Amino acid sequence: MIKYVPEMTSVVIEEIPDMVTLAVEISNCKGNCIGCHSPFLKNDIGEELTEEAIDRLFEENFGVNCFLFLGEGRDLARIIELAGYVKRSKGVAVALYSGRTEVEDEVFRAFDYVKVGPYIAEAGPLNVPTTNQRLYKISHNPFSAEDITSRFWRKGIDPNRS
Ligand code: SF4
Repeated sequence: MIKYVPEMTSVVIEEIPDMVTLAVEISNCKGNCIGCHSPFLKNDIGEELTEEAIDRLFEENFGVNCFLFLGEGRDLARIIELAGYVKRSKGVAVALYSGRTEVEDEVFRAFDYVKVGPYIAEAGPLNVPTTNQRLYKISHNPFSAEDITSRFWRKGIDPNRS
């Protein structure tokens, strides 16, 4: 099961370059970032993110072209299943902000954008060149993963997300 925090859902333009993104905060984070900026997301809070909930979110947020899972929870198979549902039924890109340093190949195959790397305060967030985090833009046919992290440095924006 994947759960999200409905009241924190928002449409953003900073998190994924060139995209208008519907972002949902996923709870049950299994990360352990020192200086975690959202410790409440480690708890089992919020509501289940189902296909029906996704339908409602798109009805309430018309016009987005990307859906972002801010966190991955503890059920990898289910979040991949939900990503597939979003792609098939909504025809938009799907993105994942993972707090892990490395993710499975199946994650790269399921998403169009994948951010990896825990939040490390001394390294800084995505918008500074010292960051340990990386955002990849995925092409699926043929497969490639392009590191587009430097797009944040040029824009100087502050995603301030895990
Ligand atoms: S991934 Fe985000 S929510 Fe999870 S421990 Fe790290 S900073 Fe906190």
